[in-house]
Amino acid sequence: MTIVYIGLGSNLGGDFASPKQNITSAINALAKIKSIQIIRISSFYESKPIGPQDQSDYINAVIKLKTNLDSTKLLNSLQTIENHHGRIRSQYWGPRTLDLDILLFGDQIIHNDRLTIPHTEICNRSFVLVPLSEIEPDCVIPEKGIVSDLVSNVSQAELKVL
Ligand code: ATP
Ligand code: CA
Ligand code: CA
Repeated sequence: MTIVYIGLGSNLGGDFASPKQNITSAINALAKIKSIQIIRISSFYESKPIGPQDQSDYINAVIKLKTNLDSTKLLNSLQTIENHHGRIRSQYWGPRTLDLDILLFGDQIIHNDRLTIPHTEICNRSFVLVPLSEIEPDCVIPEKGIVSDLVSNVSQAELKVL
């Protein structure tokens, strides 16, 4: 079993949902997968968009889970859930109904065609570090440090806990 942290984000509803509902629904979808057990769920946070500014604020959360899937199979499952929530890839860093990023996969360092783990931006984003620190302050990011230390390096001015 591998301990994994997933970052969730949404700033678009769909026909029947709000960003918050998309995040909740994604967590429910992950909980239904037999090879995944959810251990902890952070609060929901509201953050300003990165990249293009002409889009709505985001809802973000981080979850801790354990799984016996390998990292590629887990990514496949996450992308299937994104697609079921109407994810369309148009603009880089553009608005999306659902984004599921693998932040950490055990203590593994992975660089391949489909995955970079730890997630490349993990240390730069308050909407990742703050919820991660909420659920696992002692969490070690390989080659970077401990989350509770790293979180003090990012501005939290534009992040709001819901
Ligand atoms: P960012 O990576 O800056 O958060 P993004 O989430 O908007 O950007 P996406 O369009 O969702 O990027 O993903 C593009 C590709 O990133 C995916 O197809 C996937 O193969 C790759 N990727 C690399 N590392 C990861 C990771 N740790 N978790 C999820 N996807 C990853
Ligand atoms: Ca992302
Ligand atoms: Ca992504």
